Amino acid sequence: MTIYSTITKPHFSPEDNLILVVDDVNKNLQLIIEILDEAGYSTTFANSGKQAIERVRNASPDLILLDLMMPEMNGLEVCKYLRGQIVYELIPIIFLTASNEKEYLLKAFEYGAVDYITKPFNSKELLARIKTHIDLKNSRDQLQLAYNQLEKLAITDHLTGIFNRRAILTFAEEEFIRCSRYERRFSLLMIDVDFFKSINDNYGHDIGDKVLIEVAETINNGTRKVDILGRFGGEEFVVLLPEAGLPEAVGVAEKIKESVSEIRLPALRDKNEITVSIGVASYEKSDHQLEEIIKRADRSLYYAKNQGRNRVVTSEMLPK
Ligand code: GH3
Ligand code: MG
Ligand code: MG
Repeated sequence: MTIYSTITKPHFSPEDNLILVVDDVNKNLQLIIEILDEAGYSTTFANSGKQAIERVRNASPDLILLDLMMPEMNGLEVCKYLRGQIVYELIPIIFLTASNEKEYLLKAFEYGAVDYITKPFNSKELLARIKTHIDLKNSRDQLQLAYNQLEKLAITDHLTGIFNRRAILTFAEEEFIRCSRYERRFSLLMIDVDFFKSINDNYGHDIGDKVLIEVAETINNGTRKVDILGRFGGEEFVVLLPEAGLPEAVGVAEKIKESVSEIRLPALRDKNEITVSIGVASYEKSDHQLEEIIKRADRSLYYAKNQGRNRVVTSEMLPK
């Protein structure tokens, strides 16, 4: 997994960072842009609040140096507006203020500014503050990325890339609640590879793994876009079929059973077909919890195994 690589500190190169400088006085703009250019940053500028917002929309800067006092729309208003937009809210904003504007600084921080610098400023100090805030933003972005990856890992089966047991149970629970509240339909397939242990025994665990990956992909191809597939355990898979009653679910199950039997893996050499047994159950009004549907699917699967495997059994076919 690449998590370690994503949280290592990235190399800092100024030219990768676009800085938007906003000031209504051209002389100030020129001065700052010169300092930034010399330090190697990419730059763009605006000389009014309105133009600043336009630039942000078009250029997605990595940081904004924002003059506090400007006619029409001042820096505080620009800051407030940007913080209210989810796509722009994380761009660091550093205010450029005159020493007599200190009273507005509290407001600036309240609106989400990360820092300020007082004019006339020292160019080294300006650059140091810019770099600090770009570094901070990059670290936060990296952390967010790692967090997203971890979140994905927590719901993914590492071997097949489909949902894991925990995720499938969460989705199933949501479906169950939706069904019982709105009287909708929902079916569940419990799919188990037949005699899988003998594949491991005869061809080795690695080939066994390849078979599981292939079976997962085949099941996935046989389901509708709205269906949710997960690996429930070893060689057992679950498909959730929202808005499907028992007959439709049986249709999907039969199709899956057929397409799995058509899998041909060169590594399996002389082995006959890979087959699956499938237990099918649907939500019933008398169900009080998800567990009851899972149990019916499980019992149907068990019955399919006992009846000779390679078949689809619904809970209605179970002996009373
Ligand atoms: P049945 O037809 O009754 O389902 O028989 P079976 O052999 O498929 O079922 P059994 O439960 O006896 O064996 C399942 C085997 O699956 C045992 C276990 O070692 C193997 N297994 C579980 N997880 C994995 C895995 O991730 N990779 C591989 N290669 N094998 C696995
Ligand atoms: Mg099995
Ligand atoms: Mg099993």
